[in-house]
Amino acid sequence: MQQRIWMSLAHMGGREQEFIQEAFDSNWVVPLGPNVNAFEISLRDYLKEDKQVKDENRELHVVALSAGTAALHLGLILLGVGTGDEVICQSFTFSASANPIVYQGAIPVFVDSELETWNMDPTLLEQAIKDRISKTGNKPKAIIPVQLYGMPGKMDEILTVARKYEIPVLEDAAEALGSEYKGQKCGTFGEYAALSFNGNKMITTSGGGALVCRNEENAKRALFYATQARDNAPHYQHSCIGYNYRMSNICAGIGRGQMFVLEEHVERRQAIHDLYVHLLEGIKGVKVMCQPEESVFRSNYWLTCITVKPEEAGFSREDVRLALDKDNIESRPLWKPMHLQPVFKDVPFYGNGISEQLFEIGLCLPSGPMLTNEDIKRVVDVIKNLACKL
Ligand SMILES: *Cc1c(COP(=O)(O)O)cnc(C)c1O
Repeated sequence: MQQRIWMSLAHMGGREQEFIQEAFDSNWVVPLGPNVNAFEISLRDYLKEDKQVKDENRELHVVALSAGTAALHLGLILLGVGTGDEVICQSFTFSASANPIVYQGAIPVFVDSELETWNMDPTLLEQAIKDRISKTGNKPKAIIPVQLYGMPGKMDEILTVARKYEIPVLEDAAEALGSEYKGQKCGTFGEYAALSFNGNKMITTSGGGALVCRNEENAKRALFYATQARDNAPHYQHSCIGYNYRMSNICAGIGRGQMFVLEEHVERRQAIHDLYVHLLEGIKGVKVMCQPEESVFRSNYWLTCITVKPEEAGFSREDVRLALDKDNIESRPLWKPMHLQPVFKDVPFYGNGISEQLFEIGLCLPSGPMLTNEDIKRVVDVIKNLACKL
Protein backbone atom coordinates (compact mmCIF):
# COMPACT_ATOMS: atom_id res chain seq x y z
CA MET A 1 0.00 0.00 0.00
CA GLN A 2 1.33 3.44 -0.90
CA GLN A 3 1.71 6.07 1.80
CA ARG A 4 -1.54 7.83 2.73
CA ILE A 5 -2.16 11.23 1.19
CA TRP A 6 -4.12 13.42 3.59
CA MET A 7 -6.45 16.31 2.79
CA SER A 8 -4.80 19.09 4.76
CA LEU A 9 -2.14 18.42 7.37
CA ALA A 10 -0.47 21.05 9.52
CA HIS A 11 3.03 22.06 8.47
CA MET A 12 5.53 23.59 10.90
CA GLY A 13 7.85 26.30 9.64
CA GLY A 14 10.65 25.69 12.12
CA ARG A 15 10.51 28.62 14.52
CA GLU A 16 7.44 27.48 16.45
CA GLN A 17 9.47 25.62 19.08
CA GLU A 18 11.66 28.66 19.71
CA PHE A 19 8.64 30.66 20.85
CA ILE A 20 7.27 27.77 22.90
CA GLN A 21 10.67 27.41 24.58
CA GLU A 22 10.62 31.13 25.34
CA ALA A 23 7.26 30.69 27.05
CA PHE A 24 8.62 27.84 29.19
CA ASP A 25 11.83 29.68 30.02
CA SER A 26 9.94 32.75 31.18
CA ASN A 27 7.20 30.65 32.85
CA TRP A 28 4.44 32.24 30.75
CA VAL A 29 2.49 28.97 30.61
CA VAL A 30 -0.88 30.72 30.88
CA PRO A 31 -3.68 32.01 28.65
CA LEU A 32 -1.99 35.38 28.16
CA GLY A 33 1.55 36.61 27.69
CA PRO A 34 4.21 37.85 25.25
CA ASN A 35 3.47 35.26 22.55
CA VAL A 36 -0.24 36.12 22.59
CA ASN A 37 0.49 39.85 22.24
CA ALA A 38 3.11 39.33 19.54
CA PHE A 39 0.89 36.94 17.58
CA GLU A 40 -1.96 39.47 17.64
CA ILE A 41 0.30 42.26 16.37
CA SER A 42 1.72 40.03 13.68
CA LEU A 43 -1.78 39.10 12.48
CA ARG A 44 -2.94 42.70 12.55
CA ASP A 45 0.08 43.84 10.54
CA TYR A 46 -0.54 41.07 8.03
CA LEU A 47 -4.19 42.06 7.58
CA LYS A 48 -3.30 45.75 7.49
CA GLU A 49 -0.70 45.28 4.79
CA ASP A 50 -3.42 45.38 2.21
CA LYS A 51 -3.77 48.55 0.28
CA GLN A 52 -7.39 49.33 0.94
CA VAL A 53 -7.10 49.06 4.70
CA LYS A 54 -3.95 51.16 4.61
CA ASP A 55 -5.40 53.82 2.28
CA GLU A 56 -8.44 54.32 4.41
CA ASN A 57 -6.22 54.20 7.48
CA ARG A 58 -8.75 51.76 8.84
CA GLU A 59 -8.28 50.55 12.37
CA LEU A 60 -7.89 46.85 12.98
CA HIS A 61 -7.52 45.08 16.31
CA VAL A 62 -7.00 41.35 16.67
CA VAL A 63 -7.97 39.38 19.79
CA ALA A 64 -6.48 35.87 19.93
CA LEU A 65 -8.89 33.23 21.24
CA SER A 66 -9.13 29.52 21.95
CA ALA A 67 -11.02 28.76 18.70
CA GLY A 68 -12.62 30.21 15.61
CA THR A 69 -15.95 29.10 17.04
CA ALA A 70 -15.25 31.20 20.15
CA ALA A 71 -14.51 34.17 17.88
CA LEU A 72 -17.87 33.80 16.12
CA HIS A 73 -19.63 33.45 19.46
CA LEU A 74 -17.99 36.59 20.90
CA GLY A 75 -18.75 38.46 17.67
CA LEU A 76 -22.45 37.71 18.12
CA ILE A 77 -22.33 38.69 21.81
CA LEU A 78 -20.69 42.02 20.94
CA LEU A 79 -23.34 42.62 18.27
CA GLY A 80 -25.96 42.24 20.97
CA VAL A 81 -27.51 39.04 19.59
CA GLY A 82 -29.75 37.47 22.22
CA THR A 83 -32.73 35.23 22.88
CA GLY A 84 -35.28 35.16 20.08
CA ASP A 85 -33.24 37.29 17.65
CA GLU A 86 -32.76 36.07 14.11
CA VAL A 87 -29.31 35.87 12.50
CA ILE A 88 -28.81 35.25 8.78
CA CYS A 89 -26.11 32.69 8.02
CA GLN A 90 -24.78 31.11 4.85
CA SER A 91 -26.22 27.59 4.59
CA PHE A 92 -23.29 26.16 2.66
CA THR A 93 -20.69 26.03 5.43
CA PHE A 94 -19.30 24.14 8.41
CA SER A 95 -21.66 23.90 11.41
CA ALA A 96 -19.35 26.12 13.50
CA SER A 97 -20.59 29.15 11.49
CA ALA A 98 -24.13 28.58 12.75
CA ASN A 99 -23.83 26.91 16.17
CA PRO A 100 -22.90 30.11 18.08
CA ILE A 101 -26.22 31.65 16.95
CA VAL A 102 -27.94 28.89 18.92
CA TYR A 103 -25.57 29.33 21.88
CA GLN A 104 -27.07 32.84 22.16
CA GLY A 105 -30.64 31.53 22.13
CA ALA A 106 -31.08 33.16 18.73
CA ILE A 107 -32.55 31.61 15.58
CA PRO A 108 -30.47 30.97 12.45
CA VAL A 109 -31.98 31.85 9.09
CA PHE A 110 -30.12 30.09 6.30
CA VAL A 111 -29.44 31.61 2.89
CA ASP A 112 -28.23 29.66 -0.13
CA SER A 113 -25.19 30.29 -2.33
CA GLU A 114 -24.56 31.55 -5.86
CA LEU A 115 -22.69 29.43 -8.38
CA GLU A 116 -19.71 31.70 -9.05
CA THR A 117 -18.07 31.72 -5.61
CA TRP A 118 -20.28 29.16 -3.79
CA ASN A 119 -20.87 31.79 -1.10
CA MET A 120 -23.94 33.73 0.08
CA ASP A 121 -26.20 34.83 -2.78
CA PRO A 122 -26.71 38.60 -2.31
CA THR A 123 -30.09 38.56 -4.10
CA LEU A 124 -31.41 35.79 -1.88
CA LEU A 125 -29.96 37.61 1.12
CA GLU A 126 -32.11 40.63 0.38
CA GLN A 127 -35.18 38.46 -0.22
CA ALA A 128 -34.59 36.75 3.11
CA ILE A 129 -34.26 40.06 4.96
CA LYS A 130 -37.47 41.44 3.41
CA ASP A 131 -39.36 38.25 4.14
CA ARG A 132 -38.17 38.06 7.75
CA ILE A 133 -39.20 41.67 8.33
CA SER A 134 -42.63 41.04 6.86
CA LYS A 135 -43.12 37.79 8.80
CA THR A 136 -41.73 38.77 12.20
CA GLY A 137 -41.83 42.57 12.17
CA ASN A 138 -38.14 42.56 13.14
CA LYS A 139 -34.90 42.92 11.25
CA PRO A 140 -32.38 40.08 11.53
CA LYS A 141 -29.75 41.12 14.08
CA ALA A 142 -26.64 40.12 12.07
CA ILE A 143 -25.44 38.52 8.82
CA ILE A 144 -22.75 35.80 8.72
CA PRO A 145 -21.28 35.42 5.22
CA VAL A 146 -18.57 32.76 4.85
CA GLN A 147 -15.49 32.77 2.58
CA LEU A 148 -15.80 29.05 1.91
CA TYR A 149 -12.72 27.00 0.99
CA GLY A 150 -10.86 30.32 0.97
CA MET A 151 -12.89 31.75 -1.91
CA PRO A 152 -14.07 35.29 -1.20
CA GLY A 153 -17.80 35.82 -1.66
CA LYS A 154 -19.40 38.75 -3.50
CA MET A 155 -18.54 41.15 -0.72
CA ASP A 156 -19.54 44.43 -2.41
CA GLU A 157 -23.03 43.14 -3.11
CA ILE A 158 -23.41 41.52 0.33
CA LEU A 159 -22.19 44.64 2.15
CA THR A 160 -24.47 46.85 0.04
CA VAL A 161 -27.52 44.85 1.12
CA ALA A 162 -26.29 44.83 4.73
CA ARG A 163 -25.83 48.60 4.68
CA LYS A 164 -29.20 49.19 3.03
CA TYR A 165 -30.97 47.46 5.91
CA GLU A 166 -28.39 48.58 8.49
CA ILE A 167 -27.60 45.05 9.63
CA PRO A 168 -24.05 44.39 10.88
CA VAL A 169 -21.88 41.75 9.22
CA LEU A 170 -19.83 39.13 11.06
CA GLU A 171 -17.45 37.71 8.47
CA ASP A 172 -16.54 34.03 8.84
CA ALA A 173 -13.03 34.06 7.39
CA ALA A 174 -11.98 30.87 9.19
CA GLU A 175 -10.85 29.29 5.91
CA ALA A 176 -9.76 32.48 4.18
CA LEU A 177 -6.59 33.80 5.81
CA GLY A 178 -4.50 35.06 2.89
CA SER A 179 -7.44 35.44 0.47
CA GLU A 180 -8.31 38.80 -1.04
CA TYR A 181 -11.33 40.50 -2.55
CA LYS A 182 -10.53 43.52 -4.75
CA GLY A 183 -7.14 43.76 -3.08
CA GLN A 184 -8.60 43.71 0.43
CA LYS A 185 -7.72 40.83 2.71
CA CYS A 186 -10.45 38.51 3.92
CA GLY A 187 -10.88 38.94 7.66
CA THR A 188 -11.21 42.73 7.32
CA PHE A 189 -14.80 42.94 6.04
CA GLY A 190 -17.80 43.69 8.20
CA GLU A 191 -18.10 44.82 11.78
CA TYR A 192 -16.21 41.76 13.04
CA ALA A 193 -14.42 38.83 11.43
CA ALA A 194 -13.51 35.39 12.75
CA LEU A 195 -10.29 33.54 11.91
CA SER A 196 -9.43 29.92 12.76
CA PHE A 197 -6.07 28.31 13.49
CA ASN A 198 -7.31 24.77 13.85
CA GLY A 199 -4.95 22.00 12.77
CA ASN A 200 -6.21 21.85 9.20
CA LYS A 201 -6.53 25.57 8.43
CA MET A 202 -4.11 27.91 6.63
CA ILE A 203 -1.95 28.22 9.74
CA THR A 204 -2.36 26.39 13.01
CA THR A 205 -1.86 27.07 16.70
CA SER A 206 -2.83 23.40 17.30
CA GLY A 207 -6.26 24.87 18.00
CA GLY A 208 -7.22 28.51 18.17
CA GLY A 209 -8.90 31.47 16.56
CA ALA A 210 -9.11 35.24 16.54
CA LEU A 211 -11.71 37.96 16.42
CA VAL A 212 -10.84 40.92 14.21
CA CYS A 213 -12.40 44.14 15.53
CA ARG A 214 -12.65 47.56 13.89
CA ASN A 215 -11.92 49.73 16.92
CA GLU A 216 -10.09 49.51 20.20
CA GLU A 217 -13.20 49.74 22.33
CA ASN A 218 -14.72 46.63 20.75
CA ALA A 219 -11.42 44.76 21.03
CA LYS A 220 -11.37 45.60 24.75
CA ARG A 221 -14.93 44.35 25.12
CA ALA A 222 -13.98 41.11 23.31
CA LEU A 223 -11.06 40.63 25.68
CA PHE A 224 -13.28 41.32 28.68
CA TYR A 225 -15.82 38.64 27.71
CA ALA A 226 -13.06 36.20 26.70
CA THR A 227 -11.49 36.38 30.16
CA GLN A 228 -14.51 35.70 32.40
CA ALA A 229 -15.91 39.27 32.34
CA ARG A 230 -14.21 40.49 35.50
CA ASP A 231 -15.20 43.94 36.71
CA ASN A 232 -12.47 46.34 37.72
CA ALA A 233 -12.10 45.35 41.38
CA PRO A 234 -9.40 43.70 43.54
CA HIS A 235 -11.73 40.76 44.23
CA TYR A 236 -13.61 38.73 41.64
CA GLN A 237 -16.72 40.68 40.75
CA HIS A 238 -18.98 40.12 37.75
CA SER A 239 -21.75 42.16 36.23
CA CYS A 240 -21.91 40.12 33.00
CA ILE A 241 -21.65 36.46 32.05
CA GLY A 242 -18.12 35.77 30.86
CA TYR A 243 -16.29 33.07 28.92
CA ASN A 244 -12.92 31.35 29.12
CA TYR A 245 -11.98 31.94 25.49
CA ARG A 246 -8.47 33.42 25.61
CA MET A 247 -5.64 31.83 23.64
CA SER A 248 -2.88 30.13 25.60
CA ASN A 249 0.62 31.60 25.44
CA ILE A 250 1.90 28.18 24.31
CA CYS A 251 -0.52 27.98 21.38
CA ALA A 252 0.28 31.59 20.46
CA GLY A 253 3.96 30.58 20.29
CA ILE A 254 3.08 28.12 17.54
CA GLY A 255 1.06 30.86 15.84
CA ARG A 256 4.00 33.29 15.94
CA GLY A 257 6.17 30.71 14.25
CA GLN A 258 3.50 29.94 11.66
CA MET A 259 3.30 33.59 10.61
CA PHE A 260 6.74 33.14 9.04
CA VAL A 261 5.37 30.49 6.66
CA LEU A 262 1.87 31.86 6.05
CA GLU A 263 2.73 33.50 2.74
CA GLU A 264 4.55 30.35 1.63
CA HIS A 265 1.52 28.23 2.55
CA VAL A 266 -0.81 30.48 0.55
CA GLU A 267 1.45 30.30 -2.50
CA ARG A 268 1.85 26.54 -2.23
CA ARG A 269 -1.90 25.90 -1.95
CA GLN A 270 -2.50 28.17 -4.93
CA ALA A 271 0.18 26.30 -6.90
CA ILE A 272 -1.40 22.95 -5.95
CA HIS A 273 -4.74 24.24 -7.23
CA ASP A 274 -3.19 25.37 -10.51
CA LEU A 275 -1.52 22.00 -10.95
CA TYR A 276 -4.85 20.21 -10.43
CA VAL A 277 -6.46 22.52 -13.03
CA HIS A 278 -3.70 21.71 -15.49
CA LEU A 279 -3.65 17.95 -14.90
CA LEU A 280 -7.42 17.47 -14.82
CA GLU A 281 -7.98 19.44 -18.01
CA GLY A 282 -9.93 17.55 -20.64
CA ILE A 283 -11.57 14.99 -18.33
CA LYS A 284 -15.22 15.20 -19.30
CA GLY A 285 -17.64 16.17 -16.54
CA VAL A 286 -14.89 16.98 -14.00
CA LYS A 287 -14.40 20.64 -13.15
CA VAL A 288 -12.05 22.33 -10.70
CA MET A 289 -13.60 25.22 -8.78
CA CYS A 290 -11.80 28.41 -9.86
CA GLN A 291 -12.03 32.08 -8.91
CA PRO A 292 -14.51 33.74 -11.30
CA GLU A 293 -12.37 36.84 -11.99
CA GLU A 294 -8.78 36.89 -10.89
CA SER A 295 -8.69 40.67 -10.53
CA VAL A 296 -11.57 40.59 -8.02
CA PHE A 297 -11.50 37.24 -6.22
CA ARG A 298 -8.16 36.00 -5.01
CA SER A 299 -8.58 32.66 -3.22
CA ASN A 300 -5.93 31.15 -0.96
CA TYR A 301 -7.28 27.82 -2.28
CA TRP A 302 -7.30 26.37 1.21
CA LEU A 303 -8.83 23.28 -0.38
CA THR A 304 -9.03 22.52 -4.07
CA CYS A 305 -12.57 21.36 -4.87
CA ILE A 306 -13.94 19.60 -7.92
CA THR A 307 -17.43 18.88 -9.17
CA VAL A 308 -18.24 15.66 -11.00
CA LYS A 309 -21.28 15.62 -13.27
CA PRO A 310 -22.10 11.89 -13.54
CA GLU A 311 -24.14 12.26 -16.74
CA GLU A 312 -21.09 13.77 -18.49
CA ALA A 313 -18.28 11.95 -16.70
CA GLY A 314 -19.82 8.47 -16.58
CA PHE A 315 -18.87 8.22 -12.92
CA SER A 316 -20.01 10.05 -9.81
CA ARG A 317 -18.39 12.08 -7.06
CA GLU A 318 -18.80 9.06 -4.79
CA ASP A 319 -17.03 6.83 -7.35
CA VAL A 320 -14.08 9.23 -7.22
CA ARG A 321 -14.06 9.34 -3.44
CA LEU A 322 -14.12 5.55 -3.13
CA ALA A 323 -11.45 5.08 -5.80
CA LEU A 324 -9.19 7.58 -4.03
CA ASP A 325 -9.78 5.88 -0.70
CA LYS A 326 -8.88 2.53 -2.21
CA ASP A 327 -5.58 4.08 -3.26
CA ASN A 328 -5.04 5.37 0.30
CA ILE A 329 -5.91 8.98 -0.57
CA GLU A 330 -8.18 11.03 1.67
CA SER A 331 -10.90 13.19 0.08
CA ARG A 332 -14.22 14.49 1.35
CA PRO A 333 -17.61 15.57 -0.01
CA LEU A 334 -18.22 19.33 0.13
CA TRP A 335 -19.86 20.69 3.29
CA LYS A 336 -23.37 19.38 3.79
CA PRO A 337 -25.53 22.53 3.82
CA MET A 338 -26.92 23.58 7.19
CA HIS A 339 -30.54 23.52 5.99
CA LEU A 340 -30.12 19.77 5.32
CA GLN A 341 -28.68 19.03 8.77
CA PRO A 342 -31.05 17.14 11.08
CA VAL A 343 -30.29 19.54 13.94
CA PHE A 344 -31.46 22.53 11.84
CA LYS A 345 -34.45 20.88 10.15
CA ASP A 346 -36.98 23.40 11.48
CA VAL A 347 -34.95 26.51 10.70
CA PRO A 348 -36.10 29.06 8.07
CA PHE A 349 -34.26 28.68 4.76
CA TYR A 350 -34.10 30.76 1.57
CA GLY A 351 -32.87 28.47 -1.18
CA ASN A 352 -32.21 28.09 -4.87
CA GLY A 353 -31.00 24.47 -4.95
CA ILE A 354 -27.35 25.39 -5.50
CA SER A 355 -25.73 24.25 -2.26
CA GLU A 356 -27.77 21.03 -2.35
CA GLN A 357 -26.53 20.34 -5.88
CA LEU A 358 -22.92 21.15 -4.92
CA PHE A 359 -23.14 18.79 -1.97
CA GLU A 360 -24.28 16.03 -4.36
CA ILE A 361 -21.51 16.46 -6.92
CA GLY A 362 -18.62 18.16 -5.10
CA LEU A 363 -15.43 16.77 -3.60
CA CYS A 364 -12.46 18.31 -1.72
CA LEU A 365 -9.08 17.00 -2.84
CA PRO A 366 -5.85 16.78 -0.85
CA SER A 367 -4.46 20.34 -0.74
CA GLY A 368 -2.02 20.66 2.18
CA PRO A 369 1.23 22.59 1.73
CA MET A 370 3.34 19.49 2.37
CA LEU A 371 2.02 17.65 -0.68
CA THR A 372 4.49 17.14 -3.50
CA ASN A 373 3.70 17.48 -7.19
CA GLU A 374 4.06 13.69 -7.34
CA ASP A 375 1.31 13.35 -4.73
CA ILE A 376 -0.98 15.54 -6.84
CA LYS A 377 -0.23 13.43 -9.91
CA ARG A 378 -1.11 10.29 -7.93
CA VAL A 379 -4.50 11.82 -7.05
CA VAL A 380 -5.16 12.85 -10.64
CA ASP A 381 -4.13 9.45 -11.99
CA VAL A 382 -6.85 7.77 -9.94
CA ILE A 383 -9.44 10.09 -11.48
CA LYS A 384 -8.00 9.58 -14.96
CA ASN A 385 -8.16 5.82 -14.51
CA LEU A 386 -11.87 6.08 -13.72
CA ALA A 387 -12.35 8.05 -16.92
CA CYS A 388 -10.34 5.49 -18.97
CA LYS A 389 -12.35 2.54 -17.73
CA LEU A 390 -15.43 3.76 -19.59
C1 LIG B 1 -12.93 25.81 11.01
C2 LIG B 1 -14.12 26.67 10.80
C3 LIG B 1 -14.74 27.33 11.86
C4 LIG B 1 -14.41 27.08 13.31
O1 LIG B 1 -13.11 27.29 13.67
P1 LIG B 1 -12.49 26.44 14.91
O2 LIG B 1 -11.19 27.10 15.13
O3 LIG B 1 -12.36 25.03 14.44
O4 LIG B 1 -13.42 26.59 16.06
C5 LIG B 1 -15.79 28.18 11.58
N1 LIG B 1 -16.23 28.37 10.33
C6 LIG B 1 -15.68 27.73 9.28
C7 LIG B 1 -16.20 28.01 7.92
C8 LIG B 1 -14.62 26.85 9.48
O5 LIG B 1 -14.10 26.20 8.45
